[in-house]
Amino acid sequence: MVTLSRNEPEYVRYEIKIQPAPDVIPFPSRFKVRVKKHRLAGLLLKELVHYRGQKEVVTSRPCVYGVFSGPVGGFAPREDKCVGCLRCTTQYPEMVEIFRNPDRENLGDSHFTREYVDSVHYESQSGRVPVRGAGYRGKFGGEGWDGMWTDMSEIVRPTRDGIHGREFISTAVDIGEKPLLLQFNSEGIMVGETPHCLTIPIPMLFDAPPPSARTRALTEILVRSATETETLCILPLPEILEFSIRNRHVVPLISLSDRDKLSELGFAPSMIEMEKWDENLYGIIRDQFPEAIVAVRLPYSPGFEDRLLMLVDHGVGVFHLVGSYHGRGQNGEFVRDLISAGHRALVAVGKRDRTTLIGSGGIIAAEHVPKAIICGLDAVALDTPVLVALQARMIGECVDWNNNQFDIREVPVDWGVQRLKNLLASWRDQLLEILGAMGLREVRRSRGETGRAMFQEDLEIEAFGEIEGYGD
Ligand code: SF4
Repeated sequence: MVTLSRNEPEYVRYEIKIQPAPDVIPFPSRFKVRVKKHRLAGLLLKELVHYRGQKEVVTSRPCVYGVFSGPVGGFAPREDKCVGCLRCTTQYPEMVEIFRNPDRENLGDSHFTREYVDSVHYESQSGRVPVRGAGYRGKFGGEGWDGMWTDMSEIVRPTRDGIHGREFISTAVDIGEKPLLLQFNSEGIMVGETPHCLTIPIPMLFDAPPPSARTRALTEILVRSATETETLCILPLPEILEFSIRNRHVVPLISLSDRDKLSELGFAPSMIEMEKWDENLYGIIRDQFPEAIVAVRLPYSPGFEDRLLMLVDHGVGVFHLVGSYHGRGQNGEFVRDLISAGHRALVAVGKRDRTTLIGSGGIIAAEHVPKAIICGLDAVALDTPVLVALQARMIGECVDWNNNQFDIREVPVDWGVQRLKNLLASWRDQLLEILGAMGLREVRRSRGETGRAMFQEDLEIEAFGEIEGYGD
């Protein structure tokens, strides 16, 4: 086994320490509050008489959320407190108007929509699970991940308290090459093929940020967050060398042009990722770092399943399947189906349990992690959610590695680390919630378990397939 930490193991229940990490860059409020000041002045005069000069009462009305309770009341409304209940406009339509804030509405892009940005913003700020008390009023289906539901049966809920820690649910996953069975000699010593893998306590790691977003502070935040949460972060080799990084939680991303710089790496990485397959470079990495797990980055190009099988035959055991930031493969298919295709290709040749599939692209919400794992991934490499958590803003459509533009400011490193820890803690809690509701005691068991999910297209065919005209 490859180890990430050199400390002697002593059982400590895994936990990510959360604490509030308020915005360092002002976040646009949900609503704009427009007050007609001359009417407000008239109302205040009237109410001063009615409430016998109780200034605090007068300046706080008519909003119970405190929008009009600032030092000068409604003359400078505190828009960040507005929840859009519309009580004020109902009572005083001639005085107050409430609008959606266009700055908030325009956050994100067509895939990472404003609703997802809002969730990631809340999760990274608080480390908690977003709760919407008024019930879900949206659609029960849709494209991509929205056309898939996890099966949360009431009957199979033996582990439902996992999120509160009363019953343990493991979120640990193994990354590496594993034999199908272990063999031991008569003395109990393992013989034959042994596992060559490492275990991370959450099925999430950090992908390398796109070139447009790379800063020294971001690199430091990623390395420290990965270390403190005991997971991994992928970083290009030139960046590792430039910032003199020596940390086993860092996975060097090696391109063909980095071949000669490999010897400059000042530490023995636990894992190395090749930007693309090259047999010669694979051999060099294996020779130079025999202990390291070697992964190959593989885009979802047409026929990628054949390439996957070909590389398995070459001895590769870990793959990082990469979709666009909008969750599409090169032929436009959504990653959900592509992950399943890769997983099933390996199952068909009896190699799935020997290999590890990591995936990135289009996974932007907590619920997408268990869904991607159910489709066949072992772990998810987070890309754009990391940047959104750090308050980077997307300029236009951020589609893929090179075709994107992020406005990322220099932010304090300690703050950034806490934001990412909060995000991981919140997503892990939501993963525990789903595993508990599915009656699973470890996330490894959910890999490829599509029988524990429902797909909109299947249910529609089941319900309407025999009706004349369906599907025309
Ligand atoms: S809409 Fe509701 S929360 Fe917003 S200012 Fe009016 S009363 Fe207050």
